[in-house]
Amino acid sequence: MEDVIQKFKATGALLEGHFLLTSGLHSSLYLQCALVLQHPREAEELGRRIAEHFTDKNIQVVASPAIGGLIIGHEVARALGARFIWTERQDGKMTLRRGFSLSPSERTLVVEDVVTTGGSTRETIEALRDAGADVVGAASIIDRSSGRVDVGAPRIALATLNVPAVEAADCEACARGEAPVKPGSRKQ
Ligand SMILES: [Zn+2]
Repeated sequence: MEDVIQKFKATGALLEGHFLLTSGLHSSLYLQCALVLQHPREAEELGRRIAEHFTDKNIQVVASPAIGGLIIGHEVARALGARFIWTERQDGKMTLRRGFSLSPSERTLVVEDVVTTGGSTRETIEALRDAGADVVGAASIIDRSSGRVDVGAPRIALATLNVPAVEAADCEACARGEAPVKPGSRKQ
């Protein structure tokens, strides 16, 4: 777990400081998985490490919600010798498109980059079960929920973070008079 965090820090995918998130909340950590996954060698290794948790589960299909899950899901599928498909939102609903289909009871693993509330993993699992899949597990590189989120299937993560995001009024850094930084506008 610690070396996963190190990979994220080394590529700027995990920043420590005082951040104004797009949600409007403040946090002492900023996570952007794309910055580690832009390196295919890192993506391949992270995918292999997730796959190691499922080698005895006879996974036939790996499925991920687009866009965040695409790269890591593909790497997990490669490591497991499984098929890879994805779900995407259509009129707000997570849907299988592009001619993707599942055979009845196909053993399926759902993979995301990061689980925060578990919402998109849960919606993906529902879409897959509606299509007939047997969803046997779920996985992510990072769990931001401290392990609390239940997605309706057994779930693993390579690293777990407890990263509270708070209103400005409750922010300790703001109370110290420090100005928050918008991620992406940070001077290197
Ligand atoms: Zn603040």
